[in-house]
Amino acid sequence: MMNQHSLYPNLFKPLDFGFLKLRNRVLMGSMHTGLEEAENGFERMAAFYGIRAKHEAGLIITGGVAPNRAGWVSPFSIRLTKNAQVNDHRKITDAVHVEGGAICMQILHAGRYGYHPLSVAPSAIKAPISKFSPWALSKRGVRNTISDFAKCAALAKAAGYDGIEIMGSEGYLLNEFIAPITNHRKDEYGGSFENRVRFPLAIVDAIRQSCGSDFLIVFRLSMLDLVEGGSTWEEVVNLAVLLEKAGVNMINTGIGWHEARIPTIATMVPRASFTWITAKLKPEVSIPLITTNRINSPEVAEAVLTKGEADMISMARPFLADPEIVSKSRAGRANEINTCIACNQACLDHIFERKTATCLVNPRACNETILPEPETLKNAKKILVVGSGPAGMSCAVEAAKWGHQVVLCESSEAIGGQFKLASKIPGKEEFRETLRYFSTMIQKLSIELRLNTRVDEVFFEKEKFDHIVFSSGVTPRIPVIPGVDLPHVIRYDDLISGRKVAGKRVAIIGAGGIGFDVATFLSTESDNVPEHFQKEWGIDTSYSNRGGIDKAEMPKSERLIYLLQRSKGKPGERLGKTTGWIHRAVLKKKGVITMNDLNYKAILPLGIMIVKDGLEKLLEVDSVILCSGQISNNELALKLQSKGRKISIIGGALTAGELDAQRAIREGMEAALSFNS
Ligand code: NAP
Ligand code: SF4
Repeated sequence: MMNQHSLYPNLFKPLDFGFLKLRNRVLMGSMHTGLEEAENGFERMAAFYGIRAKHEAGLIITGGVAPNRAGWVSPFSIRLTKNAQVNDHRKITDAVHVEGGAICMQILHAGRYGYHPLSVAPSAIKAPISKFSPWALSKRGVRNTISDFAKCAALAKAAGYDGIEIMGSEGYLLNEFIAPITNHRKDEYGGSFENRVRFPLAIVDAIRQSCGSDFLIVFRLSMLDLVEGGSTWEEVVNLAVLLEKAGVNMINTGIGWHEARIPTIATMVPRASFTWITAKLKPEVSIPLITTNRINSPEVAEAVLTKGEADMISMARPFLADPEIVSKSRAGRANEINTCIACNQACLDHIFERKTATCLVNPRACNETILPEPETLKNAKKILVVGSGPAGMSCAVEAAKWGHQVVLCESSEAIGGQFKLASKIPGKEEFRETLRYFSTMIQKLSIELRLNTRVDEVFFEKEKFDHIVFSSGVTPRIPVIPGVDLPHVIRYDDLISGRKVAGKRVAIIGAGGIGFDVATFLSTESDNVPEHFQKEWGIDTSYSNRGGIDKAEMPKSERLIYLLQRSKGKPGERLGKTTGWIHRAVLKKKGVITMNDLNYKAILPLGIMIVKDGLEKLLEVDSVILCSGQISNNELALKLQSKGRKISIIGGALTAGELDAQRAIREGMEAALSFNS
């Protein structure tokens, strides 16, 4: 067996607080999953956190729990204010402790981000991302809030939590007191730095008094607000020193307020590109520091610890993607980790849509009590999966995990389907990890992969299967426009795969997800490394300005690019809730010209003739790229079905409109589970 600590010696070093010893340096960071408010939520959270503790998370921090009603993130969201609620939380703490884990509850007061009319803040200043104006807390209100925090922490202790995390970052209430932009108070809680930090320090004090010394207090400190009028570096350092003095055991790193217009966790943020800020604070305090944001692999985590940038690594979404990330790392099986690709599609986007979170690459996340864990079946079956895009890979791997004998046929030379293309888009490099994961599992589970194999009717005369699944994907739609067959018209798959090359002036037909991807592909010349990312988004690494922001310098594209759509809506309005703004901002900064509410008259050797506002206009371009949606590749499947064969069709082959990797992977898993009945 692999020496447990040989690969990641720093990651697997215990962290001892005397009254509590953490088994390694991996923190499962706080995430609101929506289970907090779901039916049977506490049972589901117990299963969710329990399995992550079983697989060796060093310390878990729950999603935010409000200390009072005004602190709700949204109406009726979770709070801990009464003894009667303690037993529910016990289900979570027991499930974690039985697995040898440790867990803290996060106390989150949403402040002016509370999406309800009862929200409060240091001053009555509305957040740009909320439609509710907060009430300014009275002095009595401030004192009551401090005691609500202390009571909430004491109840958490009674429920068996090993400690609490005080949410002091991301622009929530405590952060609003700390930063001058949101704190215009004239009393002892506003004005000077000493006054602005009085409230968070009083909270730490009150919690220490109500919970005693054998209780972990983690403070999530906003080290980089990324908003104008945020803290200065000197203020961050001074507050960290005061927090240490007040008895905080660990400081966690907070990056960027929710209203900041700089991406902090999306997939295009290079890995570990914010650890520099934790490293900058390291010499100033002696308590352990946790660093965070876009750390999704044990290699990156170990490198950060080796450089001495932090004492512990927080990963949140990577625990949704793979609850076994820590145990697989320890066992030397990192290549089997189902890596979080930072797409936000099934986690954060769901939360914004008020749905329970899950994970695009792991539909079991937050569904632990609904989707059973694989176990070896006695009546294994022979399964054929046709097509190895996300749906097919998911189906094949899940079926093989249950012990079924799986044949996976792929007409091209490699697995991956649309994911193969997505991974070639600048800023979407993480998608390669999903291909690596599936490819490793295909090998490990002895799935018979037949590449360059086109399945036809004759195929079924030669071989028999118990179940047949068609996950044969999609083909780009060719729009009916005169001139569409001219040589300078290129399908998006031909362009992205490198089979064809675009000229210097380009028109893209279709401004959906793929149109945006293609525009990014054609307009990105620089490598996606932290230095470029910081410069392009105006992150002030010298920290000479409040909030750590600077002038953004995103280079304009060397190409002339038109991104076109017929419909009236804003181009890109259907992109992900939490990431769409980034894609739209990038293309704008790069000078891509988006046009809507138009018609295509003809594609000509000189360019494309459009009709806009009743007038014909020639866009002179060298290449026209087709990103006009897809059609299902399901002719054979439907033919076989019509002849009475029992065939399941999943993913893009089932529905090409609103083609979606999340749906594809979930349908793959569901099809595989259906073989068990
Ligand atoms: P899509 O989002 O449905 O967009 C297709 C585009 O083609 C639309 O802008 C549509 O605009 C245009 N179109 C449709 N039929 C046309 C026709 N006959 N002639 C000319 N134009 C036509 O599809 P997609 O871009 O192929 O993306 C596929 C799926 O992948 C989507 O569900 C998308 O959300 C997802 N995806 C998302 C992302 C992301 O969020 N970043 C990235 C890649 C893919 P008009 O009809 O208005 O002209
Ligand atoms: Fe990561 Fe995407 Fe899964 Fe969220 S949905 S955990 S971002 S892979």
